[in-house]
Amino acid sequence: MAGGMEFSELEAKRKHHGQLMSGDGGWHGVPEMQAGRKRNGRLNEGPASSFSQTRLLLVTSSSEEELPDDAFVEPEFQSDDWSVASLSSPSVNGRRRAARALARALASFLATAFSYAASSRYAQMLCGLCQRHQVLRIGAVFATGLLRAVQFLQLNWEQLAADIEAGALNPRVADESVRDAVAGILRPDPELARFVREECGKAEWAGILARVWPNARYLEAVITGTMAQYVPTLRHYSGGLPMVSISYASSECFFGVNLRPLCDPSEVSYTIMPNLAYFEFLPVDDEQEEGDDEPALVDLARVEAGREYEIVITTFAGLNRYRVGDVLRVSGFHNSAPQFQFVRRANMILSIDADKTNEVELQRAVERASALLRLPHGASVAEYTSRTCTARIPGHYVVYWELTAGVAVDKEVLGGCCLEMEEALNTMYRQSRVVYGSIGPLEIRVVWPGTFQDLMDYTISRGASVNQYKTPRCVTFPPAIKLLDSCVVSNHFSAALPRWTSYD
Ligand code: AMP
Repeated sequence: MAGGMEFSELEAKRKHHGQLMSGDGGWHGVPEMQAGRKRNGRLNEGPASSFSQTRLLLVTSSSEEELPDDAFVEPEFQSDDWSVASLSSPSVNGRRRAARALARALASFLATAFSYAASSRYAQMLCGLCQRHQVLRIGAVFATGLLRAVQFLQLNWEQLAADIEAGALNPRVADESVRDAVAGILRPDPELARFVREECGKAEWAGILARVWPNARYLEAVITGTMAQYVPTLRHYSGGLPMVSISYASSECFFGVNLRPLCDPSEVSYTIMPNLAYFEFLPVDDEQEEGDDEPALVDLARVEAGREYEIVITTFAGLNRYRVGDVLRVSGFHNSAPQFQFVRRANMILSIDADKTNEVELQRAVERASALLRLPHGASVAEYTSRTCTARIPGHYVVYWELTAGVAVDKEVLGGCCLEMEEALNTMYRQSRVVYGSIGPLEIRVVWPGTFQDLMDYTISRGASVNQYKTPRCVTFPPAIKLLDSCVVSNHFSAALPRWTSYD
């Protein structure tokens, strides 16, 4: 077992210390637990409930050294390289040490898992190059996945070309199963290596996908909803290949398919398949009457063309009237089956990858970060708005701040505010930032005092009511973005990664 420790060894160690209960007595059983407590000789005081359990512990040889002496370990699950156990300790110190051991074990586990993921990604790209004339479709689930593949090629083409030339995988691909899988495909091919160097070494990557994979017929990925922002970038790399968004689905349920796969990305509609779940729809434009506690749900057969609805599902797996959180617009009918365009996530304003940040989360993050301005500078955020910037890969959040007039703020403090905002954002955001690297550092753009007044004047000049005007917390309209960008005084980025653990 590479770098790990068998449970049998761990149990032996605990038994040796007189800490692991014998027989089938897991610590879940009260009599055994009390026997164990007595055996420890220091647990007689305090109620049983003070004996608290940590969450799952990933046990590797490195974390094992750090386990507290008074710990109880209960095996849960084991793989070749690591084991998962419940761990409990009666003492505060023990629990602290267990938490530290947990953090280290998790880091070592993630390093192993990610080295596999990196090896696998490398091998897939290598095989894709070796078999480039056989590739008919270039696809990923979401558009961001496709762009990550392009970025991976940008970062690794020199090594890939070297491996192709030599006909051998470089030793950094350590995983044996990955090496075995590639062995049957990789042969020395100096001509292909030259081609890769020539194509990828060019400064201009427009159309690279069609050149590297000349027989590919189309790109396939979800390019609707929040992924629509990546269509121009994909188009840039695609060399004119059609972009196909086949299906609309979620972890909870498959919803529908695109019956016109070759249509323009802006026209994609999905036909909901009624045999996959029971679908109902909540009109989003209906005013709810005061005192109404049941929303007026509409059946699939009764939705109306042109109206927007939030989709509600009852699934075979047991979800009952579950609000998925997606807003759809009825764009037409296929025979009598309604077709829907994806409009937006309900209550979501920012998304780069799998992250979904809503207005409340953004507000909370701005409040937390702006607290950093108050103490040293007495400054505060007078107004803010945000957008995603996907001009480069990975994309990132941009937050425009107008500060209270007349106060100068250090750039270090503003850099710290960027990180503070990231710390306050949801776990998916931080995981994408820390683990997948699919989101870049958050940026604060400080704008001139009066910029948000200009934004309001501009919006009103386009017909908005002055009485009803609210500062938008996200801007997507290009002229509004241009206006904000023309007023930027300084910009600042997070200089470090936010914290993320799998227990967040
Ligand atoms: P998840 O539950 O993480 O698998 O994500 C499912 C969500 O991804 C859906 O509820 C939508 O918000 C989004 N999604 C999935 N397919 C599409 C699609 N074809 N177009 C737009 N958004 C989609």
